[in-house]
Amino acid sequence: MNAKDYSYPDNILENRVILITGASDGIGRALTLRAASLGAQVILHGRNVTKLEAVYDEIESVSSNLRPSIALMDLASANAESYQSLASSLTEEFGRLDGLVHNAGILGERFSIEQYDAVLWQQVMHVNVTAAFALTQVCMPLLQAAEDPSIIFTSSGVGRKGKAFWGAYAVSKFATEGLSQVLADEHRQGKLRVNCINPGATRTGMRLAAYPAEDRNALKTPDEILAAYIYLLGPDSKGVTGESLDAQ
Ligand code: NAP
Repeated sequence: MNAKDYSYPDNILENRVILITGASDGIGRALTLRAASLGAQVILHGRNVTKLEAVYDEIESVSSNLRPSIALMDLASANAESYQSLASSLTEEFGRLDGLVHNAGILGERFSIEQYDAVLWQQVMHVNVTAAFALTQVCMPLLQAAEDPSIIFTSSGVGRKGKAFWGAYAVSKFATEGLSQVLADEHRQGKLRVNCINPGATRTGMRLAAYPAEDRNALKTPDEILAAYIYLLGPDSKGVTGESLDAQ
């Protein structure tokens, strides 16, 4: 079975507590809505409360007995205390995490390495890699408290093969693949599975910023690429770890 063609029953994520970063827009938003419709207790992470509340309201209007939660935190400025406080409130409210999806990310600018701004480089590496490391670290006890926990990191085609002018974004995605592999190997004997997904070209704001001239209608929408995410978050991927899957 190929994960991108995975089909699933409509209660596949029932009662799973799942934290999704960057739930306010693009792929994260679509995944959050889908996971909630499949029975998950979703925690919507983001930095923009208005956008998060719109997703929250959309979930409440269509489903479910499980009320979503909002975790407001700007990954660019969060400090150790912010991460600890998020983990403490999750511990208090849920006591475990069945899924953690590191989806939030920024593109930076499309410059050559020679011309890349050093401050921007640090920002991209920080939001795309260091923040995912810090969040993973504080969430580890919550993941260990779940029966069948799963972490998903978000990679990219340019995180597997370097490409001119993709600068810090590409390098951050190589680092993300590395972080995922190291963590997966550290937990090879345990119940925690750790994997990457490369979404592939998807119709979002980030893609538009990277390719302003392309035909957007030729791209898959976020809604159309979610099967691999659901596969890795649900019970059918038990034992799958250290992999990097393609959503398309
Ligand atoms: P997007 O539409 O730009 O969404 C990015 C999400 O990350 C938004 O929710 C955004 O919040 C959030 N975010 C950014 N900076 C943040 C910060 N400092 N603190 C908290 N949240 C922050 O992008 P997307 O295309 O859905 O991308 C999702 C993931 O897929 C990214 O990791 C991206 O690298 C990866 N990816 C995308 C494509 C593609 O073709 N779209 C291809 C390969 C990989 P706001 O709403 O507040 O901006």
